[in-house]
Amino acid sequence: MWMTPLHSAAATDAAHDDSVTSVTTISQNWFDAPICRNCSTNLSTTYCGSCGQKAARRLSFGDLVKESWERIRWFEKDSLKTLFRLIFQPGLVARDYVHGKRASYMHPLKLLVALVAILVLILAANQYFQRFDFVGQNRDVERMAQRVVNYANWSFTLGIAAIFLGSWIGFRRRSNYNAIEHAVLAIYCQNLILAIVILNLLPTLVWHSSHFILLHKQASAYYLYAIKLAIVATAYSQFFRLNIARDWPRLLLACLIYAAASWLLLRGYATAILWIVQ
Ligand SMILES: [Zn+2]
Repeated sequence: MWMTPLHSAAATDAAHDDSVTSVTTISQNWFDAPICRNCSTNLSTTYCGSCGQKAARRLSFGDLVKESWERIRWFEKDSLKTLFRLIFQPGLVARDYVHGKRASYMHPLKLLVALVAILVLILAANQYFQRFDFVGQNRDVERMAQRVVNYANWSFTLGIAAIFLGSWIGFRRRSNYNAIEHAVLAIYCQNLILAIVILNLLPTLVWHSSHFILLHKQASAYYLYAIKLAIVATAYSQFFRLNIARDWPRLLLACLIYAAASWLLLRGYATAILWIVQ
C-alpha cells in the first residue's frame, strides 16, 4: 500500500500525538485516549469536568439509533415528569427552578415550544378554528375568518404576558424577585394551561363532526376560563408562599389583573389582526 510521508509518520505516532492523528484517518486510538473530544480537556471520569460531555465513542449505526431513541425517551420522561408535578404544584415548580433546582425540571421555554407544537398539530388536524356557524352565509366573512385563523396560532403565548402582569403588579413590592423570575412563573403556569387545553381538545380528534366541535367550543369557553383562573391563583399563592387568611385581598387583586389583562390582550390582538387582514 502506497503511503505519503505524512501518513506513515501518523501511523506510528497515532497513539501519542493527537494533532497528527486528526489530519489523517479516524482510529480507535483517537477515542481510547483520555481526552474530551468536545473541548480537549483531559478526562479523569466518564463525563468531562469542563464541558459535561460523556466520553465519546466511535459512531456506529446501532449507537446512532440507540442515542436518538434515548434522547426521545429522555425528552418524554423529563417533560411528563415536569408536567405531572406542574398539575399539583405549578407555583412550586417555578419556585424550585428560580431558587436553583433546575436539572430536575424541563426548561420552561423548551416545554412551551413542545406544547405549542402539539397544540398547533391538533388544531390543524381537527380544523378547530376553521369551523364556524356562518358557513355558507357569507363568503367574504368566511375568507376573512380564514385569514384570522392563520394568525391565531401565535396568540397562545399572550397568556404569559397576562400572568406576568398580575404577578408583577400584585407582588413586586412584596417580594424581591426580578422580572425574569416573575417571567419563569408565568411561563410554567402557561405551560400547565396549554397542557389542559390540549387534554380538553383530545375528544375532538375522535369525534370531529362540525356539530360536535361547535358544541365543544361553546362549552369550553365557560369552564376553561374558570380552570385557568384556578391555576393562576394556585400558582401565585404557592410561588409567593401566601397565607390565604391574611393575603387574600392581594391575591384577588393579582387574579383580577390577570383576568383583565388576558381579556384586553386577546381583544387587542384580534383587533390588530382584523386591521392587518382588511
Ligand atoms: Zn469537555
